[in-house]
Amino acid sequence: MIEATNFIEQIINEDIDAGKVTAIQTRFPPEPNGYLHIGHAKSMFVNFGIAQKYGGKCNLFFDDTNPSKEKTEFVDAIRGDIRWMGYEWAKECYASDFFDVIYDCAARLIKEGKAFVCDLSAEEIKNLRGTLTEPGKESPYRNRSAEENLRLFTEMREGKYADGEKCLRAKIDMSSPNLNMRDPVIYRILHATHHRTGDAWCVYPMYDFAHPICDYLQGVTHSLCTLEFEDHRPLYDWVGVSLGFSPKPRQIEFARLNVTNTVMSKRYLKKLVEENLVHGWDDARMPTITGLRNRGIPAEAIRDFCSRVGVAKANSECEYSYFEACVREYLNANAERAMAVFSPLKLTITNYEGSEEVDFEINQTKEGAGVRKVKFSKNLYIESSDFSLDPPPKYFRLKKEGYVRLKNAYIVRCDDVLLDENGNAKEVLCTYIPESRSGSDTSGIKVKGVIHWVDAETAADVTVKQYQSLLRDADYAGQDFNERFNAESEKIFTAKAEPYLAEAKEGTPFQLMRTGYYKKSEENGAAVLSEIVSLKDNFNKK
Ligand code: ATP
Ligand code: MG
Repeated sequence: MIEATNFIEQIINEDIDAGKVTAIQTRFPPEPNGYLHIGHAKSMFVNFGIAQKYGGKCNLFFDDTNPSKEKTEFVDAIRGDIRWMGYEWAKECYASDFFDVIYDCAARLIKEGKAFVCDLSAEEIKNLRGTLTEPGKESPYRNRSAEENLRLFTEMREGKYADGEKCLRAKIDMSSPNLNMRDPVIYRILHATHHRTGDAWCVYPMYDFAHPICDYLQGVTHSLCTLEFEDHRPLYDWVGVSLGFSPKPRQIEFARLNVTNTVMSKRYLKKLVEENLVHGWDDARMPTITGLRNRGIPAEAIRDFCSRVGVAKANSECEYSYFEACVREYLNANAERAMAVFSPLKLTITNYEGSEEVDFEINQTKEGAGVRKVKFSKNLYIESSDFSLDPPPKYFRLKKEGYVRLKNAYIVRCDDVLLDENGNAKEVLCTYIPESRSGSDTSGIKVKGVIHWVDAETAADVTVKQYQSLLRDADYAGQDFNERFNAESEKIFTAKAEPYLAEAKEGTPFQLMRTGYYKKSEENGAAVLSEIVSLKDNFNKK
């Protein structure tokens, strides 16, 4: 027996125990109407993860019953994103592969008096549907004969009617306490070109009807979906039972992944793209899988996050900082260290001549990662924020007549400061202590501050991109996403970096000492360092 780690696995174990299932099959069911986002990562984690754990199969099932919004571009992107996440599907299929069978299923229901063609408009159907406290009213078309229904349904398919003029409804129960069971629409007329079936069809099944059929035809044993489908389960079961499915797939709902300051509605993400508020679906600030990849976030960290959030029955919202912590943890263990100076201030060592190479630890958390050589000379850049003309008490970085260690190199003393016309420091003049070399320090001088630097002569000019979340805090200006949009969420400037960074392979993540995790990339031949995640949790700092 496989040990269950969540309620879905418990149910599966019970089903196996009871002899209801032997081989487990799931499916990941995106609608190809947009790009996958981090919420889908959880669905993938659940569907692919459970299939893997039980030695079963998980299909990639494209839920393409809504031709007006679906595109092949999205199908291709979804495939790429799933593979990048590290999952492989058993079979790829589409609801549209089954349109013939679904149509036949509908015809069967009609023949058995379980479905009828209704002439009411969508508006009228809604008005007769009743409420949670009041039963609905039956459609005047509910008692058409099977023959008439079949004829009308055939005519619907033949294109005799305009969109919305008729629809096919399941004949269930207008007084059911569950609104989804009040004669739900199962087929609609839609004269639209489908991205795969072209103009072959002008009637399309509704999700609630197509999904249970497609699950069954694929051999899905457990149809795992998010909580908003819980109220649809009676209909899912009704379809299965009415069509005599055996064994009938079992739908189990779990909580959606919600993350603070992140919108996961494809509709909103699409709007951001279409209104050019972001650079595209893969904008590094987007919560899409392609955006996260472009940001430099490793797939392992996303999977780890999903696993830690867990699979629960109750909805909740997860802090974005928790996601960042998972990313940070992974990068801390895996990313190489390097140095870059974002706001350069010249530091000149007046008693140093020539140059040398100092050892720089590649990743101190990783055994055997080793060291790399970094050039050190008399002309360096340090961060302007690491020097203060007017230091507060307990200031351990550089100040006049103060000492500081240059990371992996020497202790220096600041002797003098040159100011610009505004009275700001433009160059600090230091002397170094020759006996203080890192690794063989015999100087006896104790310093509290260690600062990073780059060699001025060999430093590369790089473009830095820093990000904030696309959405301001929920209390910023109300709940409306448009008002919360953070137009200043991308900051671009140039900086000085070790040449090693400029030469690094595209896509490599680095921990820039004392700064954060950045991804190396190139744009028009120039080196770019873009922020993956800050070094420390500063999410709540304003
Ligand atoms: P959206 O509302 O953003 O359009 P969707 O649910 O319509 O999302 P689908 O492509 O239909 O998107 O989703 C594919 C699968 O991913 C579904 O089973 C859905 O339940 C699941 N899913 C979508 N969003 C989340 C989420 N935030 N957390 C967990 N699972 C999700
Ligand atoms: Mg959907």
